[in-house]
Amino acid sequence: MQATPKALRLHIAIAGRVNSGKSTLLNLLTGQQVAITSSQAGTTTDVVEKAQELPPLGPVLWLDTAGFGDESELGEKRMKKTYAALDKADIVLLVCSGDNIGQPEEQIIKYTNSRNTPLIRIYNRADEYKIKATDGIKVNATDLSSRDQVLNELKSYIIKVCPEDFLSSQPLIGDLVPTHSTVIMIIPLDYEAPKGRLIMPQVQAIRDCLDHNQNIMVVKEDNYINVLNNLKTPPALVICDSQIVDRMVKETPPEIKCTTFSILMARFKGDLSKMTKGAQMISKLQDGDKVLIAESCTHHAMEDDIGRVKIPNWLLKKTGKQLQIDHVSGCDFGTDLSRYKLVIQCGGCNINRREILSRIYKCEHAGVAITNYGVCISELKGVLSRVLEPFEG
Ligand code: SF4
Repeated sequence: MQATPKALRLHIAIAGRVNSGKSTLLNLLTGQQVAITSSQAGTTTDVVEKAQELPPLGPVLWLDTAGFGDESELGEKRMKKTYAALDKADIVLLVCSGDNIGQPEEQIIKYTNSRNTPLIRIYNRADEYKIKATDGIKVNATDLSSRDQVLNELKSYIIKVCPEDFLSSQPLIGDLVPTHSTVIMIIPLDYEAPKGRLIMPQVQAIRDCLDHNQNIMVVKEDNYINVLNNLKTPPALVICDSQIVDRMVKETPPEIKCTTFSILMARFKGDLSKMTKGAQMISKLQDGDKVLIAESCTHHAMEDDIGRVKIPNWLLKKTGKQLQIDHVSGCDFGTDLSRYKLVIQCGGCNINRREILSRIYKCEHAGVAITNYGVCISELKGVLSRVLEPFEG
């Protein structure tokens, strides 16, 4: 894999009212005809994504959105997608036609403020409107010769407002164990494992250990005990796939710390303490309560799928209650979360931290508990406190 995965790129949404020049700006920034443009309002009907390397910022993902103020029949559906793009944006570019700040612009400012998302104002058609505003960047998006100047100005703005947690993101493992210590990773290669490769959280964990000069041993579950018994110095940490967490805990001496890939991701991409608090709801569930399982991709579910089959079965068995379990996948996240008592979010390997945080925010707003697959499975298997030990103190 040569390109940076989408989930690790800085997400920059381009938003504004219809026909303010958002797609023209995207084409200018990328130097390519990525998005179709026309003078007709509402030309962008779906979110257009474009990945780009933007030194010294690094890999970014532009999200060109459908405009606010679209009163066509499909306007409402388009807006849903635009809001979903704003939810995952680390930074929003508000493209204004001249320095016209009206109701659509106010709506975008209010939405991004509520999520603490930095916003940069882009005043388009600067020459035509003779803009006086000084709190943003003045551009003429159709002027291709201005590309370098606009990009340089925009980059210096982005560096100023870029969220701290993106610039110096927390390590996945690096801060949990000492340098030069050994980390064992238990990776089952069952029929759910993709052919010929490891999945993203496993690859990221290996890379993070290498970045922090920690040694890694990767084993399959049946070899784990053998490898552990043959080590002269015990490992500083053992990490496994959530589905075998009970077996790992059983086979790991209490003095050796252990956790799961999914719990590491809950800390890295979301908020481990909120996901842990959310898991407390499991023991409070009552007959008739609704639980939402949210998968962030639309993979084809296998017969024994973790989200579709295993977690629901473990949940029903553990609680002994008649629960109604719904599923959403991809960018859908339910429209009325307040109907649910608990949301169980997948590891979100293909979405960025901002989107997971936005989902946590929406749940808090609706008064619903939220947890993630790894925390939930460990709670259901009765080993949660053990696998949280590496994060104490
Ligand atoms: S963790 Fe979520 S996004 Fe990643 S493969 Fe599983 S269901 Fe899909």
